[in-house]
Amino acid sequence: SVNPLNVCAVEVVAGVDARILPLAKGLDDGLFEHDGQITKREVRALTLSALAPRRGELLWDIGAGSGSIGIEWMLSAPAMRAIAIEGSAERAERIKRNAALFGVPGLAVVQGSAPAALAGLARPDAIFVGGGGSEEGVMAAAIAALASGGRLVANAVTTQMETVLLEHHARLGGSLIRIDIARASPVGSMTGWRPAMPVTQWSWVK
Ligand code: SAH
Repeated sequence: SVNPLNVCAVEVVAGVDARILPLAKGLDDGLFEHDGQITKREVRALTLSALAPRRGELLWDIGAGSGSIGIEWMLSAPAMRAIAIEGSAERAERIKRNAALFGVPGLAVVQGSAPAALAGLARPDAIFVGGGGSEEGVMAAAIAALASGGRLVANAVTTQMETVLLEHHARLGGSLIRIDIARASPVGSMTGWRPAMPVTQWSWVK
């Protein structure tokens, strides 16, 4: 269930420096345990905006990594539901730890590779594809499973995945955006813009 005080759970248990979670999407990356494979804060905020959570809905977070997308979906409102699908066993365990840390133990974790791991899961109202989308049958399985009127959002960092998204946009419509973020960072004693890899995002309503 959703933590009504909006406080990071483990730290409350620990009793030290409990952090109050902001209500806005795009929580600081540092609040999550991750290994570098995490949708960065600004991109995550735009991704949750496109996923447009409504109370009580079910999300599939395919290629869930740290679980950050599913966790922010769960934090949106009471009674949210989400299933994180992640191929790596190590990351699947990390998602469970993050879900406990954020006080959303209701986040279901399926360790396995899409598309096979998607078989038999409850029909989702929204799907995020953050990994595995360029693998055979993953996008097709997601589109087939999505509820009518549901939202699908997919992010591409690689050119292979971008090609998949351009093809889907050409065939099915929807909206395509490119997210270019740069962060000010040290250049010697000065400061310069360090660009992050651009992310292509396709959003579509079934
Ligand atoms: N959105 C995540 C980051 C995703 S990184 C976050 O914010 O933390 C992409 C993830 O997809 C990796 O963890 C990788 O192990 C996983 N992945 C890649 N192909 C997959 C597949 N076919 N099925 C399930 N997970 C997959």
